[in-house]
Amino acid sequence: MAELRGALIGCGFFAVNQMHAWRDIEGASIVAICDRDPERLKVVGDQFGIARRYVDAAALFAGESLDFVDIATTAPSHRPLVEMAAQNRVPAICQKPFAPSLADAKAMVKACTDAGVALMVHENFRWQSPIQAVRAVLDSGDIGTPFFGRISFRSAYDVFSGQPYLATGKRFIIEDLGIHSLDIARFLLGDVSTITTRTARINPNIAGEDVATMLMDHKSGATSVVDCSYATKLATEPFPQTLVEIDGSDGTIRLEHNYRLTVTGRNGTAVSDVSPPLLPWASRPWHNIQESVVAIQRHWVDCLANKTEPATSGADNLRTLALVEAAYVGAASGEPVRLDALL
Ligand code: NAD
Repeated sequence: MAELRGALIGCGFFAVNQMHAWRDIEGASIVAICDRDPERLKVVGDQFGIARRYVDAAALFAGESLDFVDIATTAPSHRPLVEMAAQNRVPAICQKPFAPSLADAKAMVKACTDAGVALMVHENFRWQSPIQAVRAVLDSGDIGTPFFGRISFRSAYDVFSGQPYLATGKRFIIEDLGIHSLDIARFLLGDVSTITTRTARINPNIAGEDVATMLMDHKSGATSVVDCSYATKLATEPFPQTLVEIDGSDGTIRLEHNYRLTVTGRNGTAVSDVSPPLLPWASRPWHNIQESVVAIQRHWVDCLANKTEPATSGADNLRTLALVEAAYVGAASGEPVRLDALL
């Protein structure tokens, strides 16, 4: 198969990981980059040896013949850029959060469906190898039918120095980080019917909430708690690890600090180390996330080659984004929120 020709739009903080990952993946390469900030265009273009550079996305689409675009800008530009890709009949990957609102996200899915082009949200946390290891245990049937889950991310890591915009938005942890945890809950326990949410702002120097606790009813009958915090000072900083507890009819799964996986099932208890590999270009503690970037981008290339729908397609991600919307509505009202009404 001929190598797919891709372009990156948005050359900021996180896109550098995506560029490293594209270099590791066979079957696709980035032939052009775009950023409205000439400084970022130069930094990323020079680092990765990309000569074809654009400050304007419309000029990129006009000037290049592309098999896909990888949109790594922040949420306000996602809808116009995805719609531009659809107009140009170019399949698109879009970073999370998919869109600032569910209405925008629905319009983006429709634009790509109408144009007949694939759309994947870069919702990479479910691609982390420790999370995939939990999914594999569930698939093995060893713990029986899950009836309870806890997806937990608690940290005091300073995310604001690398991503200063996170301190200024009215919405913070649910939209930025909780979105990943909610997606993991869907990945492990299936879709959700009702969510109840409590939030708090502990850090006085930011605009949004930095603590959220969400209780969810899954359609499968399981109950889960998704809890996240950037105000939790621990003896050992676990950033950016997601901890998981699942109780099933025949056993339990515990994914604990330092990627220790304990499975108690029909055949007794097994403890294993499911640490992600440290890729040559990766750096701790981000290596867990960096590895998942390679996995999701490889999945995209496979999906384009086989004409299959990505696991985190735009349509799939509407159900994760709906949880984010419902969480904010429920945090404001104090009431449980039904998901069906939003979708
Ligand atoms: P950033 O501000 O560092 O980078 C965004 C870049 O996009 C900037 O260089 C900006 O100039 C450029 N840009 C914005 N609008 C543009 C437009 N219309 N045309 C061309 N360029 C444009 O942001 P970041 O921290 O790299 O975050 C980018 C996205 O990645 C966010 O949505 C964030 O939530 C997401 N993110 C995802 C993960 C993950 O694990 N999946 C981790 C961190 C950030």
